[in-house]
Amino acid sequence: MNEHKPDNQLNDETYFGYRKVAIGEKAKLVRGVFDSVADKYDLMNDVMSLGIHRIWKRVTLEHTGLRRGMRALDLASGTGDLARLMASLVGKDGLVVLSDINFNMLKKGRAKLDDLGVIGNVDYAIANAELLPFPDNHFDAVTISFGLRNVTHKEQALKEMYRVLKPGGRVLVLEFSKPVNPLFAKIYDIYSFTALPLMGKLLANDAESYRYLAESIRMHPDQETLRQMMETVGFNQVDYLNMTLGVVALHTGYKF
Ligand code: SAM
Repeated sequence: MNEHKPDNQLNDETYFGYRKVAIGEKAKLVRGVFDSVADKYDLMNDVMSLGIHRIWKRVTLEHTGLRRGMRALDLASGTGDLARLMASLVGKDGLVVLSDINFNMLKKGRAKLDDLGVIGNVDYAIANAELLPFPDNHFDAVTISFGLRNVTHKEQALKEMYRVLKPGGRVLVLEFSKPVNPLFAKIYDIYSFTALPLMGKLLANDAESYRYLAESIRMHPDQETLRQMMETVGFNQVDYLNMTLGVVALHTGYKF
């Protein structure tokens, strides 16, 4: 089903999961999904991935190259897992900006970080990744984890990431991708289209949002397509690391 077209755009239509929708409608539908899942988001992440998402985020952190005093932007930050880890790396003289298009998700993130005492070196901004309210050449690292597949104009978001990165800065895109082993891919498909919606129904009373999750993963560009998209907007030394047999991939690149 994944046609691996860079932006999955069809003139004035795009895909929301497997559904074709008007381009202007997608952001509203995505907002509906995350409004609906915000309260149970962290619990569902742990249950659905058996906690493995924590390892994927740790590995991402290790590739940021962040050091004390640096400034990072976490896009589509949601409940702020990655931002929290980055805040500990940049320390009290650094800054991590958590940014998301969805108020409810970012509110959850802020409450969680406040509870954990992550205060002082974090900031919050409601923003669409396609149009960032930050100056050029501003951040040492820009991250987006499990966010890019929800964005309508992915190349536009990548261009914005490039713009706000400092020369020498790093971009990191952690996202679901294409499993590398065909047998494993079949098992993963069965899990995604039966177990995920069922868990969504049982734990969050919301099968639909978790069906969207499975569909949006299948529609997202695969490893090589995303690498090309990142190179097209200007990133250098673009590379990716498959994790859990390609269930997710971490794409990295630099702005020179
Ligand atoms: N980064 C967090 C993580 O890894 O757990 C949250 C990921 S959550 C699956 C996806 C997030 O992307 C949601 O919080 C959603 O509101 C956000 N999002 C969707 N479209 C966006 C856009 N165009 N710009 C910024 N954030 C967006």
